[in-house]
Amino acid sequence: MIAAVIVAAAAGVLTWTFLEYCIHRWMGHDRRFRKTPFGVEHIRHHAEGDYFAPTWKKMSVAAFAIAILSPPAILIVGAPIGLAYVIGLISFYGVYELHHRRDHTHPGFGPYGRWARRHHFHHHFVDGRTNHGVTSPLWDLAFGTYRKATIIKVPPKLAMAWLLDPVTKAIRAEYAGTYQLGKASTPSAQPDAVDRNAPHPAG
Ligand SMILES: [Zn+2]
Ligand SMILES: [Zn+2]
Repeated sequence: MIAAVIVAAAAGVLTWTFLEYCIHRWMGHDRRFRKTPFGVEHIRHHAEGDYFAPTWKKMSVAAFAIAILSPPAILIVGAPIGLAYVIGLISFYGVYELHHRRDHTHPGFGPYGRWARRHHFHHHFVDGRTNHGVTSPLWDLAFGTYRKATIIKVPPKLAMAWLLDPVTKAIRAEYAGTYQLGKASTPSAQPDAVDRNAPHPAG
């Protein structure tokens, strides 16, 4: 039973990574969903850089998801396994939220932390049609939207505080080889310019 509970929780985590990709790619960047609450919040996040939807909204969505997912999960596989699945999914949603916020507010810790920031800021500033996953590259790889970040040009008005020297306002030396200040590389880095029908760049 313990093994089944662990597997169910892991399946919940995996399900969240898939939802993370789908919600961001389509609800956040597809013109058909531009006017939805998530679409509106996400455009503002891209436009302002340091804007995040209010915590009460995120908590409400999480509570709603628990309420609608738990009954069928319990009915299908029983309470311990069904609840483990739902708790795994919702807990990792919480991990995602903290992770995403810290990408913007704190420098990366370790290889994963640095990779996660470059992956995410490639999406923000280089090509908004790519790198929709935040916690993992899994679904970008599966859907062909993964791009390895190289030099990321960050518009000065959207630059993350951790990226800049507080005195000179230039890129900190440790990031100078991988980030630059300047105009975003392509207009598609802005959600308003993201067109679901536009061809993806090669590579
Ligand atoms: Zn986005
Ligand atoms: Zn972001």
